[in-house]
Amino acid sequence: MLRHAHCSVEHAQLAARASVLWDELARQLPHLEHPLVARIGALHTMPSADALAPLERSLAAIEHDCSVLDASEISRRWPGLAITPPAALLDPRGGRIEAAAAIRALVTDLDDALILGRVDELAVDGPRVRLRAGATSVTAGAVVVCAGLETPRLVEPAGIRIAMDRPLAATRLTFAPAGGRPTPELPCIHERGGSLPERISYLFPGEWGGVSLGLPSLPEMLTPDLSRRIQTLLERAMPGVTWVREAEVAVRLEVLDDTDHDRIEVHRAGPVWVLAGWNLFKHAPAIGEGMAALLAGQRAPLLERLPGERSGGPGAGGA
Ligand SMILES: Cc1cc2nc3c(=O)[nH]c(=O)nc-3n(C[C@H](O)[C@H](O)[C@H](O)COP(=O)(O)OP(=O)(O)OC[C@H]3O[C@@H](n4cnc5c(N)ncnc54)[C@H](O)[C@@H]3O)c2cc1C
Repeated sequence: MLRHAHCSVEHAQLAARASVLWDELARQLPHLEHPLVARIGALHTMPSADALAPLERSLAAIEHDCSVLDASEISRRWPGLAITPPAALLDPRGGRIEAAAAIRALVTDLDDALILGRVDELAVDGPRVRLRAGATSVTAGAVVVCAGLETPRLVEPAGIRIAMDRPLAATRLTFAPAGGRPTPELPCIHERGGSLPERISYLFPGEWGGVSLGLPSLPEMLTPDLSRRIQTLLERAMPGVTWVREAEVAVRLEVLDDTDHDRIEVHRAGPVWVLAGWNLFKHAPAIGEGMAALLAGQRAPLLERLPGERSGGPGAGGA
């Protein structure tokens, strides 16, 4: 999900820059079939009007349009959606990042600049760094490591220690309307205790047709009973449609600490640079731009002084 609203102005600024760059990237990828961001809107649902205030403040600071919606406005805009959150804010330029299309286009267009393989080891040798991947070895003047959960292991020999308090798991479920019916028109919903029970943290219409939703649960907690309850909840939120469970993906996540949900840290030891964090996909092109500047010896103001940010309510788990 691409959302501009964050509790901190710094995260909102980074998202705004990323938003511009997603469109710029789309223009530069000749093999892209669709825009990289489907701007269907990001709807933030919150437990109270007070909880919206930090989001509104950060959007005002970046001069980004938004509107507070009540339940009747929600049902007017999305007639298939029957939710009545205590408070809701619409970011009309937010929406769904077409991640699969982006990766397909990048793989095609980057051609042989992309080497597929697992890096076994990284060793610093004076001002240079050597990467070993199986029998292949590559030496470079600088390397940026973004290897998810593998990052701490890879960068430890360079003297960089990334503290991770504990790994979390997040589960994404996908459902499709039964009988090949169309999915009602929906925004991306960023849910923080406003309308959907079961600690669902986001819900959005997938690029393939149905809906995807996220739970900050351990995979083993995904019991048939919970799955049925979620199906009922979907049927209440989108009346008239019967939903069939399509798939689930359970992902183990690294978290830098237990309380900050959106977080970015840049570390450096000589030629080795590391990017670590959580909830970063939306920011990816802006982070890439910032890292490129740092490697070129320039400043990257948007990556400096980014505070850890709670996403404003209960329920981590993505978005
Ligand atoms: C269910 C879920 C929903 C999310 N929703 C959102 C969202 O809506 N918006 C948002 O902004 N963020 C979201 N996030 C968070 C976002 O996906 C992550 O912050 C982001 O993917 C982190 O990117 P990364 O490149 O640092 O790590 P990763 O995406 O984990 O990528 C690391 C890559 O490195 C590869 N790798 C690992 N070890 C090696 C090795 N030794 N050699 C070579 N390659 C290696 C891995 O295979 C992987 O492809 C979500 C995350 C989850 C799990």
